Amino acid sequence: MSELDSKAEQIREKQISRFENGHFDALVIGGGINGAVAALALRSHGVNVGLFEKNDFASGVSQESSNLVWGGFKYLESYEVKLVAGLCHSRNRLARSYPSQLTETRFLATLDASSPFAPWFASIGANAYWAIGQFATKRPRYRSPRTIKRLEPSIEIDSLLGGIEYSDYLLIENDSRFVIQMLVDAEERGAAVSNYTTVIEAERVSQKWKLKVRDQILGKEFEVSSDVLVNAAGPEIKEISEMTKTETESHLVFSKGVHLVVPKVTDSGRILAFFDETQRLFYVIPMGKCSVIGTTDERVEKPEVSVEGADIEFLLQEANRKLSLSRPLLKEDIIAERVGVRPLVIAKGGVDQDKDWTELSRKHIVEVNRKDRVISILGGKLSDCLNVGEEVVDGLDDLGYKTVKPSSRWYGEPSAAEKSIFFHKAKEIVTEKDSIEKLWRRHGSRSHEILKKIETTPTDGKNFSEIIDYCPAEISVMKDYEFIFTLEDFMRRRSLLGQTIHPEELMQDDGFKNLKKCLFD
Ligand SMILES: Cc1cc2nc3c(=O)[nH]c(=O)nc-3n(C[C@H](O)[C@H](O)[C@H](O)COP(=O)(O)OP(=O)(O)OC[C@H]3O[C@@H](n4cnc5c(N)ncnc54)[C@H](O)[C@@H]3O)c2cc1C
Repeated sequence: MSELDSKAEQIREKQISRFENGHFDALVIGGGINGAVAALALRSHGVNVGLFEKNDFASGVSQESSNLVWGGFKYLESYEVKLVAGLCHSRNRLARSYPSQLTETRFLATLDASSPFAPWFASIGANAYWAIGQFATKRPRYRSPRTIKRLEPSIEIDSLLGGIEYSDYLLIENDSRFVIQMLVDAEERGAAVSNYTTVIEAERVSQKWKLKVRDQILGKEFEVSSDVLVNAAGPEIKEISEMTKTETESHLVFSKGVHLVVPKVTDSGRILAFFDETQRLFYVIPMGKCSVIGTTDERVEKPEVSVEGADIEFLLQEANRKLSLSRPLLKEDIIAERVGVRPLVIAKGGVDQDKDWTELSRKHIVEVNRKDRVISILGGKLSDCLNVGEEVVDGLDDLGYKTVKPSSRWYGEPSAAEKSIFFHKAKEIVTEKDSIEKLWRRHGSRSHEILKKIETTPTDGKNFSEIIDYCPAEISVMKDYEFIFTLEDFMRRRSLLGQTIHPEELMQDDGFKNLKKCLFD
């Protein structure tokens, strides 16, 4: 961890002093999507809540997803209509509430003789999915091989029978930024949240949870207590259960998933979907100036995983089999790798057999342990995070705490009126429409502050370089609000830069040097 200057040290002292020897209604362990949404929902319902994340926020599985917010089309394969209806409802709610961060994206799924469905059958499925999703997106379309070639020249159509086009949503910036924005919102509403703080001991004493926490930044330990504990440690939920000597009725199993970031495959903005040789859907997904290919789905026993040579070989081979690029994708083309485990829930009494492995429903379970006053979140995706937040609030009510119904929506971007005020003002100061939209998408209410800084010092509104589309005014505000301690925090989780620009290109860029100075000097 880099040395802190005295100002940064003071800021950190202030962050930690909010916890030291304090007492909270609820303390959340884990700063991934589940912890973030729990903290935001609880705080918005009048709960005095704190959150600890042992590494950076969203540095667990929540930075390794496919960035998709979807209603679970593939679960129609196993006729789980109720699950799909619930997920679609959650997807639609999320898309309506975060209109600048989520974009409706067309999926073009191609089918050949080896695919599990004929195009006509997939077409019926896509229409059913559209209807279950309350017709909230554009209608699905059948596409012939010829049309597919016209729409997406990079797709190899030789053996294609046809394809279907349908919609779901994509997080434009990335999964981790979405989580961090939620945490910053929770903080602004009065929650105490802290990254680089590990819960090392938890004990139930006199009807309270007493936690010992290590601050990784200042290198000190402190104590804090709460009435309720929320276990949102994702794949490490069992370790927290062991530490607290509590149990969950459901348990997790893990599936490793790898994505590779490569140069852009298509400019269309579509997500290309193919069935791989194991009959699983394989995607080419837009990510900034790049494409992401993936993913794998391999059962593993432990959550600590890494990208192996065989994963890379499999993904490149599948991509090259389904695409006809000017030259095949090679190992050298890989700009970044993403790997994590999907935490899949086996409900109490559920089976955990290999044959059911890929059919395991991606449901979440929020368990309330009344005796020990612990709420545990098992599974839980970005796509249905709002349901998770509300279930955690219900859990607290279940434990006898009277939460307060918020007067306005507890989630989502600022109001349309605020957005319109920002856009109106921004047009006088920032000339490019794209830049205005980007500022709003990335920073929401905090973009007013950025605008003021640009108004005072116009040069602070200029991007660092052609490849670094951030300006000093943005960085200054991000430093104030976003708990950035290392370069990786910024490059990997606050922005897409670390995954979409080749490290060698970055090293040669003068703007990158200035960005580093701006972040840490
Ligand atoms: C390959 C892949 C693709 C996916 N694609 C999608 C997708 O497109 N859409 C979607 O909705 N979902 C997707 N998912 C699923 C989704 O990413 C996860 O379900 C979700 O991110 C889990 O969030 P979480 O908060 O439970 O876990 P995490 O993000 O792992 O957060 C748990 C946190 O707890 C912290 N922690 C653990 N112990 C302690 C401690 N003692 N003290 C303090 N902190 C602690 C960890 O450091 C970690 O950051 C995908 C998953 C994978 C692996």
